[in-house]
Amino acid sequence: LYGEKRSNSKGVNLNIHSQFQPLKEAMAPFLERRYQAAPLVGFTLDDDDTPLHRVMCPWDRDRLVGEVRWTSAEQTREAIAVARQAFPRWDATPVEERSAILERFADALEANMAELMALCCMEGGKLLTDGVAEVREAVDFCRYYAAHARELFGTATRLPGPTGESNELMLSGKGVFATISPWNFPIAIFCGQTVAAAVAGNTVLAKPAEQTSLIAHRVVALLHEAGMPRDVVQLLPGDGPTVGAVLSGDSRITGVAFTGSTDTARLINRSLAERDNAPLPTLIAETGGLNAMIVDSTALPEQVVADVVASSYQSAGQRCSALRVLYVQEDIADRIIETLRGAMAELAIGDPTQLATDVGPVIDEEARAGLQAHIDRLREEGRLLAEAPVTPEIAAKGTFIAPTAFRIDGIDALEAEQFGPILHVATFKSSEIDDVIDTINDRGYGLTFGVHSRNETFSNHVARRIRVGNVYVNRNIIGAVVGVQPFGGQGFSGTGPKAGGPHYLLRFATEKARTINT
Ligand code: GLU
Repeated sequence: LYGEKRSNSKGVNLNIHSQFQPLKEAMAPFLERRYQAAPLVGFTLDDDDTPLHRVMCPWDRDRLVGEVRWTSAEQTREAIAVARQAFPRWDATPVEERSAILERFADALEANMAELMALCCMEGGKLLTDGVAEVREAVDFCRYYAAHARELFGTATRLPGPTGESNELMLSGKGVFATISPWNFPIAIFCGQTVAAAVAGNTVLAKPAEQTSLIAHRVVALLHEAGMPRDVVQLLPGDGPTVGAVLSGDSRITGVAFTGSTDTARLINRSLAERDNAPLPTLIAETGGLNAMIVDSTALPEQVVADVVASSYQSAGQRCSALRVLYVQEDIADRIIETLRGAMAELAIGDPTQLATDVGPVIDEEARAGLQAHIDRLREEGRLLAEAPVTPEIAAKGTFIAPTAFRIDGIDALEAEQFGPILHVATFKSSEIDDVIDTINDRGYGLTFGVHSRNETFSNHVARRIRVGNVYVNRNIIGAVVGVQPFGGQGFSGTGPKAGGPHYLLRFATEKARTINT
């Protein structure tokens, strides 16, 4: 999160710059490329009658990144039929073969890092550092699920039984899964959901977010080249009301893995439940958060501020895990806010292809306008505490939002998650700590949470009482690592199981107990 300006003056982070320089150079030709995308399906497309969508760059609004042909409702239904037909064959394919495809795909992602980073930048508005993290996380998901699938699906588990009887438990795929993924992690989450469903033996209809179809198209092309059959994973770019609605309303769909807003998850849940004569569905939803951090008076202000800035503004605050509400014990609040102001004044906002940039654009104009309305309202109420600088030239070029921090009374003042670089700050007295925790719990979300304190009794107490999926003590609250910090929440924040954790694949599988009278 340190720009060149700061790195040069303070002598930090130059190492990171020299590490990224070769990748930046390798990326350059892809920044100029115009991409074309269309559904990637297991049947021949009669492709002329569906609309073509132009994809514009979020930080340079006149720049055309490419065009994508969206999937029609009819093509979506045909893809479901193909997936259903392919399911028994794929489910009977040895897990070793399925896992090997994921590992070859992981190698291909790594080999194509520069191009994928360029696409993340051009279509998703992501910084170089975020682009690298995307590819690495996708690679981790592939290798983690490949290894885990071998353990789970390779051999049956023998179970006890009386003499003359043999018992075992076997796992297999459930059927046809739809994976509906978000634009904020167009490679990592898209790949994670899709390969998990496939390696467990399901056939998959992958619907990427409308905003990041080109990235998804490139990624699925690599997956097919790595050996994934075209009828096993099909890519259906398109909009929610067409492709998403057909998928969640079709009785041939066995389950949906969804990452996105809580409201959309509710819609999908309802649509799955209302289908006639359909199997009882599986829904795996990872949704939003109103994530908080509690800082007591023993915390180290400089560390707190570095972690708050990373948690709130990295990826322009467009992470489900991002910090939205900072609770600071009042004795230390002035010091924290002053340090935060200083840090925010140093943030460089702008062109994400530049290594000096700390914060890029938000995804599109609709997102920008919604965030701006929230900012305007809080500003009018006189709540502004700090703001990072955005020059008028930069603001005019794309969908940029100046990172801000506002004073609020508490989490209940917020109606909804604001998915961007906006932090809200509240204060508390030490005697109020349990009320603060109860208020956060009662708000109903439960994704990430942070506590900063040098008093271990305090941080243990807070971490135990808070009801969330991921608690971070004395660090930032973003960037969960596959297999290390399994990610996902509870309540309004999701159904579980956690992505990148040991129980994830199990939700995509069905169990069969076999008893043989010997
Ligand atoms: N796993 C990501 C993180 O820990 C967030 C995922 C999301 O935004 O959905 O930062």
